[in-house]
Amino acid sequence: MNPPALATIEQIGDVLRTRQSFVIISHVRPDGDAIGSQLALGFSLLAMGKSVRFLNEDGLPESLAFLPGSERIEFPPDEPLDVEVAIALDTSTRPRLGERALHAASKASLWLNIDHHISNPGYADINLIDSTSPATGQVLYELITKLGLPFSVETRDAIYVAISTDTGSFQYPSTTARTYDIAADLIRRGLDVGQTNSQTYDELPFRRLELMRALLNTLERSSDGIVAHWELREQTCVDLGLRPEDSEGLIDFIRAIRGVRVAVFFEELPEGKVRVSMRSKDRQLDVCIIASEFGGGGHSLAAGIRMPGPLEIAKARVLGAIQKRVEML
Ligand code: AMP
Ligand code: MN
Ligand code: MN
Repeated sequence: MNPPALATIEQIGDVLRTRQSFVIISHVRPDGDAIGSQLALGFSLLAMGKSVRFLNEDGLPESLAFLPGSERIEFPPDEPLDVEVAIALDTSTRPRLGERALHAASKASLWLNIDHHISNPGYADINLIDSTSPATGQVLYELITKLGLPFSVETRDAIYVAISTDTGSFQYPSTTARTYDIAADLIRRGLDVGQTNSQTYDELPFRRLELMRALLNTLERSSDGIVAHWELREQTCVDLGLRPEDSEGLIDFIRAIRGVRVAVFFEELPEGKVRVSMRSKDRQLDVCIIASEFGGGGHSLAAGIRMPGPLEIAKARVLGAIQKRVEML
């Protein structure tokens, strides 16, 4: 597959300046970078006097409701919206936008795709994909500042949270000097960094810790100690009253075990599907390549899959594929 033809910042700027109505969408099961990117770009467009709708297939996670402007995030309406331009953010493949969101945006005559996933094939009319960027929020910071577009309070806070969550609080190797420069600039622009971090990381619902306890009971490690995994059953979700966002980021705990190079989280989804989350600490164990074998994708050190179940079969297949890569080292 050839890499997609990439747009210039000016081409994107031309669309943002000359078109009037936009629908902005991010991926299913949205994380901080997905919602943060939507708010960052959307509030810049609103400040330019544009009409903007913010859609997400799964709505706004409760954990991100502190972000200013987040009340604008909607579930997709049943009828297609009358908009000129649809913008997909932080979404590696078109289906990950969700069926209802795609239907709601189906009248748009021009599609933009702004992302940082290396596996993004460039599925829109105009594609800006920077896989060297640790977050789509960072791509948008560069875009908005280079084009001199309005930088609202909502944009500022959303970009910080997008970058902070996608870099594991500025820890992952994808974090660069530029990432810290941007964070410093956001603080100079008035971001309350202590309060924003506290709202992002110190407001966990109790059920998230109950989930952690349930996950720890399933923790396993391969005999060589290189692969650690845990799993979440649908019944546990029901018993604990979990929301989809409750498991976000928990995989970092098993990724952090000494000797572990790949961490895997298996989650049973409704309708017999399984969600697989993978993290690697070793560039030679590229989890994006492993995810691609099963139709998933992401980045070399963080990737995911949605695949058919049942859980036991999915587990055996994915762990088998990882084991094969470990043996090739
Ligand atoms: P997660 O483990 O869900 O936090 O996802 C890790 C990375 O892989 C993120 O950048 C996701 O966008 C990407 N990703 C997760 N699931 C999928 C999937 N089913 N298909 C393609 N990319 C995915
Ligand atoms: Mn994301
Ligand atoms: Mn991202």
